[in-house]
Amino acid sequence: MNIIIRDNHEPLVDIKKYCPGVVVALGRKRMAVEKTAYLRMGVAKMLKKAQGYLPKGVNFVINDAWRPAYIQTEIYFNFIRRFEKRYPKWTRKKIILEVEKYVAPWRGSGASGHMSGGAIDLRLVDKNGHKIPMKSKRLSYQKNALSVQEKLPGYIKKNREILFEAMRKAGFSNYPKEYWHWSYGDYYWARRNKKPLAIYGAVCDHRNFYDSKPCPCGSGNKYKKCHGTRGE
Ligand SMILES: [Zn+2]
Ligand SMILES: [Zn+2]
Repeated sequence: MNIIIRDNHEPLVDIKKYCPGVVVALGRKRMAVEKTAYLRMGVAKMLKKAQGYLPKGVNFVINDAWRPAYIQTEIYFNFIRRFEKRYPKWTRKKIILEVEKYVAPWRGSGASGHMSGGAIDLRLVDKNGHKIPMKSKRLSYQKNALSVQEKLPGYIKKNREILFEAMRKAGFSNYPKEYWHWSYGDYYWARRNKKPLAIYGAVCDHRNFYDSKPCPCGSGNKYKKCHGTRGE
């Protein structure tokens, strides 16, 4: 199916302002630069609604929301370098084809849903800020990641159900290979739900946090003068 992205230009907003009490926990390096996490306004309002469906004392911990193009570029080029090491005889073209099976690009219509501000990675914390268990130590990363996993102990399934129910009731859709990834309005949301129209395209230059950092491709140029060039 052909999906059209018709961005409705809702602004990105600070999640903490819309959903008081959520815990924002991006990686340490990103927290130092970005300080908080952002979502499109409509999605932040949906998350507020989802918060209202959580039991008393339980709250969301946000592990990723809007992701700057720079971070997506960094993940992408880290994969390129890893694969180049692993397959030294492959051509650049073959490497790129293989990498794109695992990492969404940082540009084009298939850019990561996180770049649109419509996708969010989240889990639950209790009233003391402690993580509520969502996975089993006995399962691999991939097996734990599956939203429906029969092998999980009952109490973990129940914990996940609290998260799932709140998010579904608020109108979010889950990526079934990652129980923590939920979205609304982005390209991949449209694809999962067979909708012809996505309302959130990538937002690359919000705040320009990383413009003057060295480009993740390794060229030695500033990001904004290299892969961060608008429209590239
Ligand atoms: Zn995600
Ligand atoms: Zn570059």
